[in-house]
Amino acid sequence: MLQSVEFKGIILFSKDYKEKDRLVKIFTEHAGKMMFFARNVQRKNNPLKQAIINFHYGTYMGKLQKDSLSFLNGVKTVDAFLQIQTDIFLNAFATYILSLVDAALEDNEYDPSLYGFTKQSLQLIDQGYDAQVITNIFELQILSRFGVQLNLYSCAICGRVQEKFAFSSYMSGIVCTKHRLQDKTLYKASPQIIHFARMFSNIHLNQIRSINISDETKQELRVFIDALYDEYVGIKLKSKKFLDQMKDWT
Ligand SMILES: [Zn+2]
Repeated sequence: MLQSVEFKGIILFSKDYKEKDRLVKIFTEHAGKMMFFARNVQRKNNPLKQAIINFHYGTYMGKLQKDSLSFLNGVKTVDAFLQIQTDIFLNAFATYILSLVDAALEDNEYDPSLYGFTKQSLQLIDQGYDAQVITNIFELQILSRFGVQLNLYSCAICGRVQEKFAFSSYMSGIVCTKHRLQDKTLYKASPQIIHFARMFSNIHLNQIRSINISDETKQELRVFIDALYDEYVGIKLKSKKFLDQMKDWT
């Protein structure tokens, strides 16, 4: 018989199932993304009721099954991203990050480094760091999980690293002034945008304290990363559409 085990996880989403139960998708640290059945969780005194709401994370207990639905039985410790829960803007960024995780990973795909990266990204947004910068870093670094490898480091043709680069769709990477002449697939991106995209692709989140970017540059980065996603990833997420619409409110 399957044993109940303890595991760390971040709630991706949950939805009602019949009257008293819920289906919960959790990004677990040691077994990847999994769908859980939580029985009787709608009852008032069930401690799981609060622990499976969006933007909660913690140590849960359950029976993990690879080929079928897993069972969520209890919770040991739980925490919430409180600012994200209460601020609609932060909420939109965090929801988009979680839907990217959901889109990039197959179920049961073991990826503890993405787990840590996701958790830290949400923690920083929750602590008041620039949500757009963190989201852009997340978008660029999760590209590899979609099977996309871009060379933002050196000219795709001659390998030069100190130059004014442009991004070439044909080369899936940057090209220097000398080698961009024949290329009709260049993105409109200033050298500054290439600089930030390159930095964001490699930066560790512990270093983001020192990043300061103007609104104009942020807007250009948004356009550049959108172009990359349209071309290389090709997914349409509702959460991204919402995030784009949100800009018009301010
Ligand atoms: Zn070159």
